Amino acid sequence: MFLPQEIIRKKRDGGALSAEEIQFFVRGITDNSVTEGQIAALAMAVYFNDMNMDERVAFTLAMRDSGQVMEWRSMNLPGPIVDKHSTGGVGDVVSLMLGPMIAACGGFVPMISGRGLGHTGGTLDKFDAIPGYCTVPDPELFRTVVKDVGVAIIGQTAQLAPSDKRFYSIRDTTATVESVAMITGSILSKKLSAGLDALVMDVKVGSGAFMPSYDKSVELAQSIVDVGNGAGTHTSAILTGMNESLGPVAGNGLEVRLAMDYLTGKARPARLHEVTMALCAEMLVLGKLAANETEARVKLQAALDSGEAAERFSRMVAALGGPADLIERPDTHLEAAPIIVPALALDAGFVASVDARTLGLAVVSLGGGRRRPQDAIDFAVGLTDLVELGDAVAVGQPLALVHARTQEGAEQAVREVQQAYRIGAIKPVAEPMIYRTIRP
Ligand code: URA
Repeated sequence: MFLPQEIIRKKRDGGALSAEEIQFFVRGITDNSVTEGQIAALAMAVYFNDMNMDERVAFTLAMRDSGQVMEWRSMNLPGPIVDKHSTGGVGDVVSLMLGPMIAACGGFVPMISGRGLGHTGGTLDKFDAIPGYCTVPDPELFRTVVKDVGVAIIGQTAQLAPSDKRFYSIRDTTATVESVAMITGSILSKKLSAGLDALVMDVKVGSGAFMPSYDKSVELAQSIVDVGNGAGTHTSAILTGMNESLGPVAGNGLEVRLAMDYLTGKARPARLHEVTMALCAEMLVLGKLAANETEARVKLQAALDSGEAAERFSRMVAALGGPADLIERPDTHLEAAPIIVPALALDAGFVASVDARTLGLAVVSLGGGRRRPQDAIDFAVGLTDLVELGDAVAVGQPLALVHARTQEGAEQAVREVQQAYRIGAIKPVAEPMIYRTIRP
């Protein structure tokens, strides 16, 4: 028999909680038998006194098991269940290509994606830009699409890790989000509820990253790898650059177009390609679909070149209610913004730094993201043709094209894009896109 206040006291005084104590507390979060005050107090105690690896694993599993956990064994799928998750970025459209690419290589990807958060875009919002595409299908349809197409990308349901929903909303209002132990449990409980054999985590580093420094990104990546493997899922993490928009495009419908251009080969921007291939290759190796990274890359390139990855994307979209000819006729289905204006460079020189967070917020102020959770999104707006770090620019040359609904929105976004770019006299040394890979 446990008491919530005794568990809080133990953590307050720096003790390590047993798995049973953690399970008891998480059950109380789910069934409302522990109060908001008690949850806040425990969160603050964990914030200051941390959790060791055993506690983190127990916490993650208890949160995962607070709701439905998907089961795939009984379907006898001829490949591993694999997924990717990212800490969030700007112009990060990787999931839209990665899912179909992995499916084309024999993996099965039941991707439960999230909405945009703050300045970062959300995969779920991108799919909501596709007319008819159902991001909340009933569970049987989800399973059928994963089985038949190899990939289905949908939204979170209330049945998955419900304890995290309550816990996160209390952390959010009590200044206790920034704890690697609790972030690990929050992310992994949701991801592991999809019943994965393998998971690759993309931990962003840079001006648009969720974690505030390189060292903190490494700490989170290491924690996710340790806890993921401790919870029985083969897990790796790759630290990737978020010092500028990952692709040259940010905004929901615009990113869907970019993803399709990537899959068909019409446009394959170099930095986006590098990160996509690195994450996909790691997934194929972890899922034992390739013996090593070289073999994985050959398979992935073949899936792109043959059109098989594009085909999987089309089949997923159609199976979930979207238009079957989206790739062939994007203009018929994806709304275009009525106003397109350039954001002009005010100085000449080289792009010395980009505040990716400000770029993301420019998309939000255009209406392409939310200020409050209940806000509706304008799928047509965003930025395209973003110049890159190190590019030479002249005064009056476009830094980006702003796609806006209104003139005021366009003018505001132009100012934000101009603020996001710092132009200097010296070409900066290129930062790597892949900083480090952390494996079990
Ligand atoms: N994203 C999550 O899902 N959980 C956290 O705690 C932080 C970011």
